[in-house]
Amino acid sequence: MSNIQDKVVIITGASSGIGEATAKELASKGAKLVLAARREDRLQKLQAESEKSGGKAVYKVTDVTSREQMEELAAYALEKFEKIDVLVNNAGIMPQAFMFKKMVDEWDQMIDVNIKGVLYAIAAVLPSMRERKSGHIINLSSVAGHNIYPGGTVYCGTKFAVKAISEGLRQEEAISGTNIRVTNVSPGAVSSELVETTSDAETKAGLNEFYKVAIEADSIARAIAFAVEQPSDVGINEMIIRPTVQV
Ligand code: NDP
Repeated sequence: MSNIQDKVVIITGASSGIGEATAKELASKGAKLVLAARREDRLQKLQAESEKSGGKAVYKVTDVTSREQMEELAAYALEKFEKIDVLVNNAGIMPQAFMFKKMVDEWDQMIDVNIKGVLYAIAAVLPSMRERKSGHIINLSSVAGHNIYPGGTVYCGTKFAVKAISEGLRQEEAISGTNIRVTNVSPGAVSSELVETTSDAETKAGLNEFYKVAIEADSIARAIAFAVEQPSDVGINEMIIRPTVQV
């Protein structure tokens, strides 16, 4: 039996791309999923597909930038499945552009979704995980959390922040002896709807060119499943998954 069987997994940003692929991968291994995003029609469809493939799934429309909605999501998971084993902190946006273009509203949105959303989700699940002395938090950073490039300055800043949050949380839980694992996942170019969140035409054209080498989202889903299925005393802390031909 897979170590994923019956694990209760919250996935934010489950309505497309990496989140959706992760839901499908974990459902096929018998997980109990709590799917979250803003687009309800997508979540409904994914819930039905997940149940068909052997998992159990519920969904809740959630905006990760709302602390209240994140708390309600965790409470809903506990109400439905009585525990939270894994949080896949995946929701994210990437509106990139050079800083001189002053897309300040987009900077705010990136900080709200990519950093605050990640923090609110951790705050929502950590108490019940600590109470059970068991849990696994998986944060989606990026190779943009390791390397900085022109146009990606603010996005990279948010993904460096996610990497720092992952490592700090890991150390805190390790010295606290709570048995909570933390995995920081850093994908390279992956086919998804992410590039669509870039509004600056010039930057978007460059991204579309760069993304010609992108790998499928299920490559990241398989890596996440690998981290989840390890025995509870084994923590996979950092994973970088790039297309083989990405520099
Ligand atoms: P997608 O755009 O396909 O998916 C992003 C998901 O985030 C969607 O499900 C979207 O759902 C959700 N989302 C966005 N804003 C919010 C919000 N305010 N509240 C709740 N959910 C939200 O992109 P990916 O699957 O590629 O991205 C997933 C993660 O992986 C992101 O954190 C991204 O930064 C990271 N990543 C992706 C890479 C890539 O090349 N694709 C590379 C490196 C990292 P909805 O709109 O329905 O709310």
